[in-house]
Amino acid sequence: MGVFPVISQFARDLADLAFPDMCLGCGTPLADSENCVCLGCVAQLAQTGMHLSEPNEVTDLFVNKTRVEHGCSYFKYIKSGLLQRLIHDLKYRSQPEVGVFLGRTAAYGLKRSGIFSDVDYIIPVPLHPRKFKIRGYNQSEKIAEGLSQVLNIPIDTNVLIKTTYNETQTKKHRYERFLNSQNLFKAQFLPEHCNKHFLIVDDVLTTGSTLESCINEMKKIPDAKVSVFTLARAIE
Ligand SMILES: [Zn+2]
Repeated sequence: MGVFPVISQFARDLADLAFPDMCLGCGTPLADSENCVCLGCVAQLAQTGMHLSEPNEVTDLFVNKTRVEHGCSYFKYIKSGLLQRLIHDLKYRSQPEVGVFLGRTAAYGLKRSGIFSDVDYIIPVPLHPRKFKIRGYNQSEKIAEGLSQVLNIPIDTNVLIKTTYNETQTKKHRYERFLNSQNLFKAQFLPEHCNKHFLIVDDVLTTGSTLESCINEMKKIPDAKVSVFTLARAIE
């Protein structure tokens, strides 16, 4: 090892001492065992309890449209609350590790409930490559990484792809968004994907139209079963 890597590691250790990582919730320095958010703030992240109770608001959303095996939005979404701020950090402030952290946190509860215990592949809702280039990562993939680490289920980012670019959807009318979300995804499956159970993962569930497109596309795989997970459910 040359002298420079040693110096740069030393500089990093010094920087850690002088500027320890801060809790994204309350701004206090994090302990070594803490990641992104301190334990006191983690305790503020209220659960919906949907992973313990089906049918629930998420599974009901797809009734009469398509069949899902299991569905769950894990955390309560309180306006201006900590979860909303963390999801904002994840999506717009270049903090991919927040997605992994939230995915892991939810996964401990999911694991205890057994709701997704027979899932074969975790499928993050894909971002269009252009959007991926701008953000540098897919936030749903980061959440999926956290889930995968705790649930020991592999992530597959090749089987479901995004086909066309849609502009930022937030300003559009609900019906326009519905139209816009059609045919945006495509399943490119292999024989090994037949007869498997897929868990589609997204950050926040709003109208459900994006997830519905993904579910319908994944169901083109012979004998596929599909479940859905989002960190939160936002009410419009
Ligand atoms: Zn805190």
